[in-house]
Amino acid sequence: MKLETKPLLYLHIPYCHRKCSYCAFYSVVSSDGRAEYVDALCNEIRLRGDGRALKTIYFGGGTPSMLSIEELNKIRDVIGQSFDISQVEEVTIEANPEDLTKDYLKELYDMKFFNRLSIGVQSFNDSDLRVINRRHDSMQATRAIMDASEVGFLNLSIDIIMGLPSQKVADFEENLCRMEELLPQSAIKHISCYELTVEENTILDKQLKMGRLTLPDEDVLVAEYEALQKWCQEKGFEQYEVSNFALPGWHSRHNSRYWQQVPYIGVGTGAHSFDGNRRRWNLSDIKEYIEGAKRGEVPYAEEQLTKDDMFNEFVMTALRTAKGINKRSLQEHYPDNVALVSAKMEKYKHHGLIKETEDSYEPTSKGLLQADAIAAEMFKIEN
Ligand code: SF4
Repeated sequence: MKLETKPLLYLHIPYCHRKCSYCAFYSVVSSDGRAEYVDALCNEIRLRGDGRALKTIYFGGGTPSMLSIEELNKIRDVIGQSFDISQVEEVTIEANPEDLTKDYLKELYDMKFFNRLSIGVQSFNDSDLRVINRRHDSMQATRAIMDASEVGFLNLSIDIIMGLPSQKVADFEENLCRMEELLPQSAIKHISCYELTVEENTILDKQLKMGRLTLPDEDVLVAEYEALQKWCQEKGFEQYEVSNFALPGWHSRHNSRYWQQVPYIGVGTGAHSFDGNRRRWNLSDIKEYIEGAKRGEVPYAEEQLTKDDMFNEFVMTALRTAKGINKRSLQEHYPDNVALVSAKMEKYKHHGLIKETEDSYEPTSKGLLQADAIAAEMFKIEN
């Protein structure tokens, strides 16, 4: 597969102030050993750095905004010593509203490193936030957005969750009203809106099994998603992926390239990497990670992707984006599957879920809602 040469760099910060009830990510609720972890992360960056020019950098977690400015400066310096960062287009940090004091935001901005801030708002409704055990309230989220805009950040993304326990469509629409109020006075350029998923053994999973909470029905979810799509369209946000909406020109460069199967380097415990053929993932254990990095050998596992794996990923990621499956890429990389994809698409075209153009098979707005199901049917194709 023809791959863009400049890789992406992802850094995983596995610390959180508290565990959100729905969260199944690897993170720990304690800052113990954080300084050692930052040193280990720097060691891994040095170990894997080869001077290549990076395209984008993304600090994710966990909660990267728990790191101090000194720690972030240290990591930035090591990235700069290990890779060429002169052509980096986008540097994002995920942040939780409660960490974003005005002073912290000013210092973050003054680093002249991060040009995109992704704020985990999740909901502007305080009872929603309490139910999912978030630490912030809607006032803090609003203040963080306003302060970030005021100190100079031009590119803010906010995360919202749909389908929260007991949520009604009108409750979800309140989020849209709040965002509407904030739009003219803030630097919000991007919205990521994810459907709540219930992972096994999370606190939410247990609460649901015990009958303490209930989730909204499927028709509520569909109505929320359609309300979001309509609102975004009215406000000029383009839907460029199932869960992502951006003002023109402000899509996430980092995530968009993930979906194009370009190579990425993931550092930190639990982080995944991809070199075009192989996927590798660091083991999720902070202690072992720190010890390994000291010895110069971070523990990881890897798998060689088969042609079918690559095709399945190609179809899944492409169908989740508004651009859909590019026919030229399909022909170039998976010529044996062209006829089968074309045959499968007939049904979806007929149901108004896929629009065929000269260059692509593009999911319609309705099709984006069912992107995973459509892709799953393609998975049955064997080489
Ligand atoms: S802040 Fe993010 S990573 Fe941490 S517990 Fe909450 S959802 Fe999970």
